[in-house]
Amino acid sequence: EAKTRGPGRVSLAHPDLVTLVTGKMHLEGQLREAIANNDMTLRYQPIVDREGSVVMAEALVRWPHPVRGLLSPDVILPVAEQGDQLRELDLWVLRTALHEAANWPMSGGRPVGIGVNLSSFLPGDPAFVEEVSRIVDECGIGWDRVVLEMVETSLVDLSPQAQQSMSELIERGVRFAIDDFGTGYSSLARLKDLPAQIIKLDRRFVAGVDHDAADFAIARAVRNIARAMGRACVAEGVETTGQLRLLKFLELDTYQGFLFSAPLPAQEFRELVDSPLPMG
Ligand code: C2E
Ligand code: MG
Ligand code: MG
Ligand code: MG
Repeated sequence: EAKTRGPGRVSLAHPDLVTLVTGKMHLEGQLREAIANNDMTLRYQPIVDREGSVVMAEALVRWPHPVRGLLSPDVILPVAEQGDQLRELDLWVLRTALHEAANWPMSGGRPVGIGVNLSSFLPGDPAFVEEVSRIVDECGIGWDRVVLEMVETSLVDLSPQAQQSMSELIERGVRFAIDDFGTGYSSLARLKDLPAQIIKLDRRFVAGVDHDAADFAIARAVRNIARAMGRACVAEGVETTGQLRLLKFLELDTYQGFLFSAPLPAQEFRELVDSPLPMG
């Protein structure tokens, strides 16, 4: 008697939980609901300048799944793609990150930028400019604080519609960043035409920059190309003071990685904004 009526029994009998535990509802459906119900969450990873001042943050999505725990993009993105939810996910992240960032304090008297990762589909959406504009107006954030990150591969075969939308946003002050630079399949010739103001040097080159001559040469070349084209260069995945020393020697513009901070919950990032990070 007591067993069948105990609290555990009651909660297990709850229809939603039964569906979750028995896996009757597919992850795709669960993700759709999580996005619609605002159950997703964001981490913010600081990007710092040579002095250690926070110049911007990158928003990174997480899914607090009731059974599987906190899920990362390597799980979320394939599910979103399969469930046709990439657009919804991107828009949720954009909306959430910009609203949060609109209330951040200044960092050393300068406004802090907010980087959002976009899948390749959103810029090709006819409503892209309108959607971004509505979000920016709603939360009253400066256009020049918004950075949209896209991987090289999704930037090379942009539709004319996507290119047009990106130009319009760039005119308003939005910056685009080429994410994971050096790992896609674009040629240097194409790089010239990519509408991006920022190049993010992929962490696989950063990893060996202080002990592998090829990584060092690649990092230097990418930084030189960025400089020659008037683009800023960010080092991704900086983990050690040895790497940082070489990257500073190469005069990269900004730095991101576990050496400074892991991606943080919103409130923790906010508290960190105005305190310079140790620069090794
Ligand atoms: P990304 O844009 O290159 O983001 C950087 C990734 O590197 C993040 O992984 C971050 O946690 C990790 N990272 C940061 N510093 C270090 C470091 O020092 N060492 C190492 N080993 N890793 C570091 P995360 O959050 O798992 O995201 C993975 C990728 O998923 C991102 O790579 C981005 O391409 C994608 N992504 C993340 N959030 C979103 C999103 O909201 N929308 C879309 N469409 N894609 C997202
Ligand atoms: Mg990124
Ligand atoms: Mg990246
Ligand atoms: Mg990367």
